[in-house]
Amino acid sequence: MNGNHPEIREAVAALCAGFPGEYWRKLDRERAYPTEFVKALTDAGYLAVLIPEKYGGSGLGISEAAAILEEIHKSGCNGGACHAQMYIMGTVLRHGSEAQKRKYLPKIASGELRLQAFGVTEPTSGTDTSRIRTTAKRDGNKYVINGQKVWTSRAEHSDLMLVLARTNPRESGNKPHEGISVFLLDMREALGHGLSIKPLRAMINHATTEVFFDDLKVPAENLVGEEGQGFRYLLDGLNAERILIAAEALGDARWFINKATAYAGERRVFNRPIGQNQGIQFPIARAHAETEAASLMTEKAITLFDAGEPCGAEANMAKLLAADASWHAADMCLQTHGGFGFAEEYDVERKFRETRLFQVAPISTNLILSYIAEHVLGLPRSF
Ligand SMILES: Cc1cc2nc3c(=O)[nH]c(=O)nc-3n(C[C@H](O)[C@H](O)[C@H](O)COP(=O)(O)OP(=O)(O)OC[C@H]3O[C@@H](n4cnc5c(N)ncnc54)[C@H](O)[C@@H]3O)c2cc1C
Repeated sequence: MNGNHPEIREAVAALCAGFPGEYWRKLDRERAYPTEFVKALTDAGYLAVLIPEKYGGSGLGISEAAAILEEIHKSGCNGGACHAQMYIMGTVLRHGSEAQKRKYLPKIASGELRLQAFGVTEPTSGTDTSRIRTTAKRDGNKYVINGQKVWTSRAEHSDLMLVLARTNPRESGNKPHEGISVFLLDMREALGHGLSIKPLRAMINHATTEVFFDDLKVPAENLVGEEGQGFRYLLDGLNAERILIAAEALGDARWFINKATAYAGERRVFNRPIGQNQGIQFPIARAHAETEAASLMTEKAITLFDAGEPCGAEANMAKLLAADASWHAADMCLQTHGGFGFAEEYDVERKFRETRLFQVAPISTNLILSYIAEHVLGLPRSF
């Protein structure tokens, strides 16, 4: 991963140089959305890399998308404001009708329409998606949606949202995940007509919200794919999501390592650079080794993914290892900076908070371990 697609990486790094630490610090303080940054990425075509050329995108693979996100994070920026557009769109691409693809994908590619929001998580169901309570009831040529989502990122900065809702009760199918459907919601029409959004202030600046559906009417043509198959569609997109999040975590890890290495070389205490002490060197070296290992696993997952091979195990392990590498690197970087690690102007404390997210969302570490235990090692199913 480190260094592939050099032209893309150089161009992304050059774009990111226009969005330095002070830009992100101000947004973080105000909990504001990086509109200019997202616009610059969109204008440069980076958010449309996975959209096929016939729908106006550049038709590149997951490898290029991962390089873009890794470079964004390595540059000290954050892709969380827009990364979902890259993989949410995949649900429409794989399972949407030709009419939906023609209607939405070219506008998403050009930036005219933003598909940034994905409403899965609910307050009462947590990780157990089979227990979501949001319902969609068919009524003639529309569906009526009622329920609530939580932690829906970017809902206030998106035109479209993919929503998971139950079209049949959990008990009615053969399996708990049957009866869930995916809808492509046009939020511009829905806001104030059954859809409301409330910001949810969090530890990091991630544009998180609560979303409420109160008899929201959605045209039946906005159902994606077949009714009741939504959970399967969600699973189909998870490997891409895991790989792209791994790439972001790797980028963070590399930012922390570069930042710590530079500081350890400059900062003089006891009349010598602190980096001369092995107590400071070794944690930086360990973080580097962990990051390189996680990068290799991510590369393996990407190679399998692009070849159309099964890659669930590798994509999950890549996400796990990269999230651990970035978190360990964050801790190391803060420690290397001593008291100054806590000062806003060094950006370490902000990136430290931001990278902690990868242990929890979009999937928490325990659930990945559970996947590896059950599906790779064949251990008994625990839930
Ligand atoms: C900043 C942020 C942005 C987010 N953006 C989105 C978004 O855009 N769209 C969206 O739908 N969701 C979003 N989420 C939600 C996120 O996906 C969930 O928080 C995450 O999946 C965990 O679910 P939960 O919070 O309900 O935790 P819970 O399911 O309540 O779990 C709590 C803890 O218990 C552990 N746990 C639960 N069950 C088990 C088990 N059987 N074995 C072992 N451990 C277990 C979990 O791993 C976790 O550590 C976001 C969250 C955050 C914080």
